[in-house]
Amino acid sequence: MCAAKKGDLSPSEKELFDVITAGNVQEASRLLGCKDVRVNCLDEYGMTPLMHAAYKGKADMCQLLLRHGANVNCNQHEHGYTALMFSGLSGKTDITWMMLDAGAETDAVNSVGRTAAQMAAFVGQHDCVTVINNFFSRARLDYYTKVQGLEKEPKLPPKLAGPLHKIIMSTNLHPVKLVMLVKENPLLASPSSLDKCRRVVELICEKCMKQRDMNEVLAVKMHYIGCVLDKCASFLEHNRDQLDGLIKSLLKGRDEDGFPVFQEKFVRECVRKFPFCDATLLQQLVRSIAPVTVGDEPTALSVLTQAVTGQVGFMDAEFCTTCGEKGAQKRCSVCKTVLYCDQSCQKLHWFTHKKVCKKLHEQREQQQPAQNQAASEDTNEARESAQQH
Ligand SMILES: [Zn+2]
Ligand SMILES: [Zn+2]
Repeated sequence: MCAAKKGDLSPSEKELFDVITAGNVQEASRLLGCKDVRVNCLDEYGMTPLMHAAYKGKADMCQLLLRHGANVNCNQHEHGYTALMFSGLSGKTDITWMMLDAGAETDAVNSVGRTAAQMAAFVGQHDCVTVINNFFSRARLDYYTKVQGLEKEPKLPPKLAGPLHKIIMSTNLHPVKLVMLVKENPLLASPSSLDKCRRVVELICEKCMKQRDMNEVLAVKMHYIGCVLDKCASFLEHNRDQLDGLIKSLLKGRDEDGFPVFQEKFVRECVRKFPFCDATLLQQLVRSIAPVTVGDEPTALSVLTQAVTGQVGFMDAEFCTTCGEKGAQKRCSVCKTVLYCDQSCQKLHWFTHKKVCKKLHEQREQQQPAQNQAASEDTNEARESAQQH
């Protein structure tokens, strides 16, 4: 796909590289509309505009180039670097994720045989390593939808590959979110389908641990998803209420502060059941979770999420109290302490939140005057010190 010759650039293409370095998205957009600008042109080192944008850590620019058809797997670079490798080196998890989502191959190696994950690890960009290792392409899952060896039927019915892949790719590991993903697909929400999916993710988990280039991150994630699917299956066998009962159990808060005890214990149990006891990542997780009293921070879910997905996305995002989705903006109008994606998430949580809502409201009222007081003291101090000088 990269038919361009190295360093053979039109004046506008040369300008494009400059504009990318400067980070001027508007100007880049204009240049990409020009006839003499090829989105996959190569500079003298064999770098494409996308590689430059990735290496410089410019997410908007990467997005623009991908929209214009930039080839994410171009490998004309003099040392065999790909755009994914440059993303990993830049340390930007959002860009790394973008490249993977655009179809970047994780197995490609540079001229000294290193993959993008290995290169990122080498320069200490561990969050990017996590993002890469956490990625699982649809093609790898589709392997299980084909009859292998002496099998009479594939391990995974092809119709289940789509919904299962969606769950595997979720960066939100909140158990309620995962149950919602199961629930939204009638094909998936039956004990026999869930059982097949669970067995496939367990196989993937095992493969991740036994392959030469071990991937503990993906193994832990697959195991955890398997536990959630198993829980859904056993719940559906005993109740016919479409998993709502399971969601309620996961959300139910204890009386004093609304902390979801069952959810915490469930996530802890999933971690504990990881079948490869010697795994370094498992030991790290256990060390972080075990000393924490149930109800205190950090929650098992937050420890697991950080270990498995790294810090994908924005640090300042607000999370939904019900399902853990980022960017929740709907605040409970009474206590103003909890956030939701939308009304349906708020509705799901109300049966348990209503027991503590008033209490949280009172706590907030008490805290706020204290905060205002502290703020005014600070200002006074600042004024006084300003007068002294
Ligand atoms: Zn939500
Ligand atoms: Zn409230």
